[in-house]
Amino acid sequence: MNTVAALPVVRFAPSPTGRLHVGNARAALLNWLFARRHGGSFILRLDDTDRERSTEAFARDIEEDLRWLGLHWDRLERQSARFADYDAARDRLVAAGRLYPCYETPEELEFRRKRLLARGRPPVYDRAALRLTDADRARLEAEGRKPHWRFLLESGDVRWNDLVRGPQHIDESSQSDPVLIRADGTYLYTLPSVVDDIAFGITHVIRGEDHVTNTGAQIQLFRALGAEPPAFAHLPLLTGADGRSLSKRLGSLSLADLRAQGIEALAVCALLARLGTADPVEPVDSLQTLVDSVDLGRVGRAAARFAEEELRALSQRTVHGLSFAAVKPRLDPAAAALGEAFWLAIRGNIARVADAADWVPIVQGPMQPAIEDPAFLEQAAALLPPEPWTGATWKAWTSALSASTGRKGRALFHPLRRALTAREQGPEMAALLPLIGRTRTAARLRGETA
Ligand code: GLU
Repeated sequence: MNTVAALPVVRFAPSPTGRLHVGNARAALLNWLFARRHGGSFILRLDDTDRERSTEAFARDIEEDLRWLGLHWDRLERQSARFADYDAARDRLVAAGRLYPCYETPEELEFRRKRLLARGRPPVYDRAALRLTDADRARLEAEGRKPHWRFLLESGDVRWNDLVRGPQHIDESSQSDPVLIRADGTYLYTLPSVVDDIAFGITHVIRGEDHVTNTGAQIQLFRALGAEPPAFAHLPLLTGADGRSLSKRLGSLSLADLRAQGIEALAVCALLARLGTADPVEPVDSLQTLVDSVDLGRVGRAAARFAEEELRALSQRTVHGLSFAAVKPRLDPAAAALGEAFWLAIRGNIARVADAADWVPIVQGPMQPAIEDPAFLEQAAALLPPEPWTGATWKAWTSALSASTGRKGRALFHPLRRALTAREQGPEMAALLPLIGRTRTAARLRGETA
């Protein structure tokens, strides 16, 4: 376990420009588990500075997906409400000489990049804009050019001890000064994220590995704005079972799709929490079990393989272990009305909670029996014990039937199962029989719909 001095404050910061998929859900989950484990708080931050691509509908969907997973947030923040803070940080950086206007067009930048590459040099921005005089800038602006703004990196190594990747360093001399503000005045993600992390007292930034390259510049930004950087933990990307990137398939791995397929939220969490660790992936009966065992230090550095088949299997096993109290609010009302005995009888035979409804007519009718051997079933009906029926009734009845007919095994049981359930397989008959009851059982043995 990592020792955490002050109570941690973490954030999950999706952009509401699409639905959450298993990749983002993993970052959300690990942040939430980490906060709960250490008694800290979990902030949902909607990174909606991109007003064209962000939508209210996606923001609502994200909230719904997180609620479905059971990841409740302690605080909700939206970047679109915080532009005044970003502008203040911008002014502060400009005053300190760390943010400077640049006038190159994308074509000019591309041309310079290619020229450097052709000479075998790294394509780092040459800071030509720093050499512009006031007169140069005035002329460029008179030509109608609008500046974009770059953050002046300090040269040298930036180091941090990544809670997943271990000691890291990025040589900022080999990086281009990052653009923080576009020519149209809009902010890229880098600055608002740091301003918010400072404002909300974020202690740990837990996010995907695709942000490792931003981290050096962000650490310098924290310092330029007078703050100590938080701790960082970068989670390796998810790949498919074949080891290839999931990015193209992520669209079909949205939480909304998984939910529509009847996948259990708890199974999604159990899998994502353990993926890429050496710990076994197994069903859990609550998120608390995952809270108790979460440890960022156990997440490996290698890409974690995500297999849908594994999720499906884990989801089924999760359903098989759900208690009646946990599942009751989600059961079809007719299935819920049949109570705990019904749920315990059938849960091992369904893949999805919704499938419980398939067994309702089998227990309470009406159901058309499948009759294979009417004479044998007539004998069986004659031996039906009187009610009340219990879990022991099936054994007593079929033992008596075996003694009187000489039948055993499949020849004894199969015609009974077919008559009473019309199916080839299913739950233990010992558990179903008392639920079906004597009247319906007798009728079905006679071939009547009951
Ligand atoms: N909005 C960013 C993203 O979705 C947040 C990254 C971060 O956690 O810093 O990638």
